[in-house]
Amino acid sequence: MKCYLVGGAVRDELLGLEPRERDWVVVGATEEEMLARGFRRLDLAFPVFLHPQTGDEYALARRERKVGPGYKGFVVETGPGVTLEEDLARRDLRVNAIARDRAGRLIDPYGGLDDLDRRLLRHITPAFTEDPVRLLRAARFSAKLGPWGFRIADSTLDLMKDMARAEELGSVYPERLRLELAKALDTDQPWRFFEALHRCGALEPLLPSLAAAWRQGGDRDMQALRRLLAAGGGSAERFALVMRDADEPVRAALAPDRKAHELATWLRLWPAARVAAADGGELLALIEGLRLTRAPERVAALGRLWSAEAPDSDAVARLQAALAAFHGVRAQDLAGTGLRGPALGRALRERRLAAIRRSLKVAA
Ligand code: ATP
Ligand code: MG
Repeated sequence: MKCYLVGGAVRDELLGLEPRERDWVVVGATEEEMLARGFRRLDLAFPVFLHPQTGDEYALARRERKVGPGYKGFVVETGPGVTLEEDLARRDLRVNAIARDRAGRLIDPYGGLDDLDRRLLRHITPAFTEDPVRLLRAARFSAKLGPWGFRIADSTLDLMKDMARAEELGSVYPERLRLELAKALDTDQPWRFFEALHRCGALEPLLPSLAAAWRQGGDRDMQALRRLLAAGGGSAERFALVMRDADEPVRAALAPDRKAHELATWLRLWPAARVAAADGGELLALIEGLRLTRAPERVAALGRLWSAEAPDSDAVARLQAALAAFHGVRAQDLAGTGLRGPALGRALRERRLAAIRRSLKVAA
C-alpha cells in the first residue's frame, strides 16, 4: 500500500501557509489491512481511519458515482484497485487535488500547480456540480485565499450559477452550511465568501435574509463587515452582523455557538437605529434586559456592531451616557429614605430612569 498527503495540507504548504490538519489517501489497501496496522476506523460512511500515533486522517482511495440528487445520491467505490488519479479526480478544485508521496514528490494530474501559480480556484470536472457543498467551499476558499490573489475561475463560476439555478442547494444540510459559514467568517476577508455566493445567485437560496438586504441596500452589509473586522470584531460579532435579520430558527441553526446566536438576536432586537432613537425607558430596558451593567464585553461587542452597522449613528455614545447615569445612582444614595425590599428597588429604578433621561438631554 502507498500513502499520499492530499488536499488542503499540500495546497497550504505550497502556498507557505500552516495547514490546519493533514489528510492522507491510501492506495492499494483494504480495510482489514488498515485495522491490522493499528488504524482506527472513524464512524463515517466512508472508509476513513485515524493514525494510531499522529491522529491524522487516512482515507482509502475512492471513486464516487452520482445516482440521485443531493449528496446522498452517490455510490462510493473503494478497493485496492482504485487509483490515486481516480481519487484525486473526484475532488472539488484543482488546487485541492495535488498529492505528495512520502519521498516528497508531487503528483498533480489535474493542473493544480499551474492553478496555484495563476491564483485560480477552478473545478476539476463537471462533476463539481454534483455536490452543493463544493459551491460553498469554492466561495470559502475565495475568502481564505483572496488576500493571496486567488479568484474563482469564470468557468467554475458558471457551474456555480447552474447549481444555484437548479435548486440543488436545497439539499445542503444546515449543519454543512453552518460549518462552511463559520470557516468563512473566520478568514481575513469574509465578505469575499458572501460576494461569491451573491455573484452566482446562491445567496438567495442559502441565506435569504442577506440576499434581501443586498437587494435593498447593495453591498452595505459587506461594507459593515469590513468595518467590523477593522474594529477587531471576532467570529461571534461577524456572525451577528450578517445574520441579524435571518429568521430565528435559521439564526439558531447556523450559529457557530451560543454567544454568536445571542449576539445576533440582540442586534436584531436593538439595531443602531433603534438605540439612536430610544427614549430613557427604552435605554433602561436595554441595559436591564441584556444585563449590560455586569457585562462590559457585551457593551463593547454591541458598540463595535453598531459602529459597523451605522458609523454616523450616536448609538454608542447614548448607551455609554445612559450606563454612566445608571451607575451614578447607587443603593446607598437612598439610605436615608427608610425604603426596603421591592419599594427600594422601585425607587432606585425611578432615579436611574430620571438620571438616564437627564443624560439624554445633556447628550442632545
Ligand atoms: P481546510 O482544511 O483548510 O478547510 P481542505 O481543502 O483541507 O481545507 P477538507 O474539508 O479538510 O478541506 O478536505 C480535504 C480535501 O478533500 C480537500 O482539499 C478536497 O480535495 C477534498 N474535499 C473535501 N470536501 C470535498 C467535496 N465536498 N467535494 C470534493 N472534494 C472534497
Ligand atoms: Mg483539510
